[in-house]
Amino acid sequence: PGDRILVSACLLGVNCRYDGGEKRHDGVIAHLREHALVAVPVCPEQLAGLPTPRPQTEFSEGDGAALLANRGRVTSIHGTDMSRRFIQGARETLKVAQICACTCALLKERSPSCGVRQIYRRGQIVSGMGVTAALLEQNGLRLMSEEDLARE
Ligand code: SF4
Repeated sequence: PGDRILVSACLLGVNCRYDGGEKRHDGVIAHLREHALVAVPVCPEQLAGLPTPRPQTEFSEGDGAALLANRGRVTSIHGTDMSRRFIQGARETLKVAQICACTCALLKERSPSCGVRQIYRRGQIVSGMGVTAALLEQNGLRLMSEEDLARE
């Protein structure tokens, strides 16, 4: 078997998104095949114990890196502070990455958990990382998003 890579489960067709849907991405599947990689599918928000479907969330302050430093906030559309749950999901995801010895992760861009370069803050797309992406990067994983594949 090839190297293992952590992958946002929604990119593989798992119905784990906040709206109960998925975001299967043919480029991701092709990338895994081409490089003979074994996907380890994870959904940090489900690993946090959140239901599917669940209320949509976005950053109301900062980004994932800021949140890990106690300076950010993830809030649901109902105004509930979800920060603690998102950090919990990030920690559980890191655990899976370490158990499976993944050194790379391929994550869904702009998600408050998985975003690699961009996130939503107060309805705007801004530069920043999701909470899980930030924690994985702090622990030495190499990150890319589905949007990087088009640039390969
Ligand atoms: Fe996909 Fe990540 Fe959102 Fe789960 S948390 S639905 S894996 S983008």
